[in-house]
Amino acid sequence: MKTSRILSFTFLLTVLFAAGCRAREAGPEDWSERRRAMVDQLRRYGIEDRKVLNAMAKVRRHLFIPESHRGKFSAYGDHPSRIGYGQTISQPFIVAYMTEKMKIAKGDKVLEIGTGSGYQAAVLAELGAKVYSIEIVPALADHARKVLKNEGYDVNVLTGDGYKGWPEKAPFDVVIVTCAPEDVPPVLVEQLAEGGRMILPAGRSYQRLLILRKKRGKVIMVKDLPVRFVPMVHGDERKR
Ligand code: SAH
Repeated sequence: MKTSRILSFTFLLTVLFAAGCRAREAGPEDWSERRRAMVDQLRRYGIEDRKVLNAMAKVRRHLFIPESHRGKFSAYGDHPSRIGYGQTISQPFIVAYMTEKMKIAKGDKVLEIGTGSGYQAAVLAELGAKVYSIEIVPALADHARKVLKNEGYDVNVLTGDGYKGWPEKAPFDVVIVTCAPEDVPPVLVEQLAEGGRMILPAGRSYQRLLILRKKRGKVIMVKDLPVRFVPMVHGDERKR
């Protein structure tokens, strides 16, 4: 008698739990609602560029997070999310902030270092940039290539070491680095076009965003926000 009561109670709990999970599962409308809420929050945080806000309202961020790491609603929260291999997709505010600072114009040739999930690359492509992106973890590069293609974004993803840049495609109007080197990688500055701009987080235990501009061959650098990004590793560091 006692056992059967426990069993039926357990059954009831299971049914309630399953029903609860079902009710919370996100459908397409939930995702777009979450995306709208994310954009409203970006606006409150001070992002003003309408083109950037519109692009982020459009790109389906949740699809860039591998299914195994996709929380029910967390894809649109203002925090980084895990994408596997110890890496993260940057929080929406940072993506918006860095993109806004670079004043992307249609047709700009942009180099991104650290493709990760492919989300930042998609936002840049949505703004009309011609995007080249380098990722050092082959499985992430494959994942990003697949999602970008499925979502209709024509982005060139290279599996390789971002410290080398992409000499065959240089010079670039914009370079966006989404992992943190200790210092500014000189090769990336070399691959910047005249009048080009670059944004990167730099430092190890303490990082800051740096914004560089190349004017008549000279480089002007401005320090910006303190940030926290995953480190930009060297090709040989990964094998250790
Ligand atoms: N922009 C990404 C987030 C990047 S996370 C997005 O929108 O999802 C940082 C990425 O940089 C990680 O995927 C990491 O593997 C990659 N990375 C680290 N060192 C690198 C290097 N030397 N060259 C290229 N990619 C690198």
